Amino acid sequence: MKRRVGKMEIKIVRDVLEKNKELAVQVRARLRKKNRTMFNLMGSPGCGKTALLEKLIPMLKSDELRIGVIEGDVATLNDSLRLQELDVPIAHISTERFGSTCHLGANVVLGALELLEDENMDLVFIENVGNLICPAEYDTGAGGNIVVISVTEGEDKPLKYPQIFHKTEVAIINKIDLVEPVGADLNLLKENIRKVNPSSKIFEISARSGENMEPLREWLQERHGELLIDRK
Ligand code: MG
Ligand code: ZN
Repeated sequence: MKRRVGKMEIKIVRDVLEKNKELAVQVRARLRKKNRTMFNLMGSPGCGKTALLEKLIPMLKSDELRIGVIEGDVATLNDSLRLQELDVPIAHISTERFGSTCHLGANVVLGALELLEDENMDLVFIENVGNLICPAEYDTGAGGNIVVISVTEGEDKPLKYPQIFHKTEVAIINKIDLVEPVGADLNLLKENIRKVNPSSKIFEISARSGENMEPLREWLQERHGELLIDRK
């Protein structure tokens, strides 16, 4: 009997991921129709995803890019309240209402995009739920997947949570202004990211001080353009 239960569980997980894939296709179609691109920001709680958006969005807006945000958190509107200062359209997903799931699936992203349908947006950021594990499992339909890791988290995290580093094209190392005080080994962290994903592009920034934000902004603009061309 035990074995049977095990098989059923496996089947359920497969079904959920299959269904998610189908919905991600719908997300992509919706983005294509509106000529929008989407970037999925993932990373552990406190790595600085919101702080990064606070710094980055005004920079991108000054380049005449119209930005929108899909915010995911288990509880509180805290991050959306911070970002609303930037005067961008935001759809907030409280996963508390969906069983407190620790990631955003394509189903809720699709719902958020429907809410934002009539907003003026070229580029949409998803701030995923703070978590290094299952957001990597769920395709949100975003064209770009990015992981944020701060120097305070420990250099071995890419080795401990390889999947998220494997599935992202960019790793943003945040809080480089704290390298000295916490005694972080930046080279080892980069080495470990490359061990898991040799083709990962790495940016070293401080969202707080604004250090090194320029190359990241340039990359995002470029990637936004590429993603628009790719689908033509
Ligand atoms: Mg946040
Ligand atoms: Zn999860």
